[in-house]
Amino acid sequence: MTQGSSAGQPDFDAVIVGAGFAGMYMLHRLRKLGLSVRVFETGDGVGGTWYWNRYPGARCDVESLEYQYGFSDEIQKGWTWTERYAAQPEILRYQNYVADKLDLRKDIQFETRVTAAKYDAQSGLWTVETDKGDRLRTRFCVMATGCLSAARVPDFKGIGDFAGKWYHTGNWPHEGVDFTGKRVAVIGTGSSGIQSIPVIADQAAHLTIFQRTANFTLPAGNKPLSREEVARTKETLLADRERARQTRGGLICFDYNEALAEEMTPEAREKELAARWTQGGFAFLGAYGDLMATKEANDIAADFARAQMRARVAKPEIAEKLMPYDHPVGVKRLCLDTGYLEIFNQPNVELVDVRETPIERITKAGVLCGGKEYEADAIVFATGFDAMTGAILGVDITGRDGEKLREKWAAGPRTYLGLGSAGFPNLFFITGPGSPSVLSNMIVSIEQHVDWITDCISKLTSGNIRSIEATKDAEDAWVAHVNELAAESLYPQANSWYMGANIPSKPQVFMPYPGGVDVYGQKLAEVAAADYEGFLLGA
Ligand code: NAP
Repeated sequence: MTQGSSAGQPDFDAVIVGAGFAGMYMLHRLRKLGLSVRVFETGDGVGGTWYWNRYPGARCDVESLEYQYGFSDEIQKGWTWTERYAAQPEILRYQNYVADKLDLRKDIQFETRVTAAKYDAQSGLWTVETDKGDRLRTRFCVMATGCLSAARVPDFKGIGDFAGKWYHTGNWPHEGVDFTGKRVAVIGTGSSGIQSIPVIADQAAHLTIFQRTANFTLPAGNKPLSREEVARTKETLLADRERARQTRGGLICFDYNEALAEEMTPEAREKELAARWTQGGFAFLGAYGDLMATKEANDIAADFARAQMRARVAKPEIAEKLMPYDHPVGVKRLCLDTGYLEIFNQPNVELVDVRETPIERITKAGVLCGGKEYEADAIVFATGFDAMTGAILGVDITGRDGEKLREKWAAGPRTYLGLGSAGFPNLFFITGPGSPSVLSNMIVSIEQHVDWITDCISKLTSGNIRSIEATKDAEDAWVAHVNELAAESLYPQANSWYMGANIPSKPQVFMPYPGGVDVYGQKLAEVAAADYEGFLLGA
């Protein structure tokens, strides 16, 4: 436990909250600057999202060869991915390999949750408190808390009455769960549900799936990676990463077709959609230039996707229930599955549409829905996260004038560039709301932010500049810009977690920046080159 030093003196130059991909790289970069750094991490190991999400079937939906750090040739050359889409255990092993290689753990305090951070304008220091009783002062505070880390179980009545065991996919027991011979209920059919359901269905005696929104899903096309593919990437990764930064999504595994839907013949469109569907992954959303921009263009792709999905389910009435009709394709995270729709052809699997018959409560024996009790020995909540803001606001953050971040963000997050918020000096968010984050390859966006924050802190420390803080004007303009971009897109047409819509009490604001990693990166560079225009630098 660390107790604060004498008044006015920091205990550490920087505190980083979280030891996932973002916190690990941030630690490495700040240490290289010669700063003293302490990382706090709730888990007992590194990994963040990949430490907690150990549910059966957990796998990345970005290809392994792109979902890795791109800052060190030595690190990437020393690691060999085995599958096109890495499973959670392999990603966690990779993160531990990086932690070993960079000797990160000595500066990470595990099993410690940061509970509060308060800025003192006089000393220019943050006081950080933890659930283990630490209380220490730091000059810089970096929230590397992840976008999808605050797991959320909905407020169903009666959870406490349930006689069996229940689990959340985002907080899965480390020892694993054996569902063999059990009656299992899964609530939720987003990415986590769609990945875990086929594995659970293989084990369970009976599986009941409670679906509120049918989602677009396409076969991931996972496969072992060949030696040649891996070897090729080892030669090109650093250059590939540079290219990825110049793309919309931070990915080079596919290109966007710039032609508009109406400029293509129906045959050419069909061919393009089919090729991209077979390729797997997010390539499908780049089949033509206006696929994510106009409803008419999107409808063509959505019809195509539904036809592919329908063909995988034997019974037409079940297939129909699994068809997403209420939102354009791609505006909720597109799901990549391995055998998801086919499991509805199994006799031990039952689908309950909770839009037709809402869940009334959890009972001692299972789930009461539409007046019928579905008995279960175990319930899996694949119900998602308090996304993008949940983990940040989980810390009681108080800014320069005593303002609470929770209050400031009560009507939705307000940041400049997703990096900082006016009134909160020297507080940085990695992939915060207002940045491309969840709409991109997270590793590319994490590196983009960590590099920017490192350069910024380096300039402040070498220039004896005490603090940096977003101006209110810049922040207001940025929030308005993000809202405008979102309004011009199809994104607001879905009740998605991008909009905060999965949490009844959350304000509905589109949170990530939808303008692309390339455009955003350009803006970051311009701001830095213009002496941090839009930020206030304090002497
Ligand atoms: P999610 O996409 O938010 O899905 C949650 C599911 O639970 C939805 O089907 C939702 O229905 C349902 N649900 C929530 N509250 C409910 C309620 N009260 N009653 C009935 N159903 C309810 O969460 P997730 O699947 O954990 O995925 C979150 C994100 O994490 C993904 O979009 C993705 O970005 C990331 N992720 C990535 C991977 C990967 O890389 N492979 C894997 C898992 C997750 P509604 O849609 O109607 O709200």
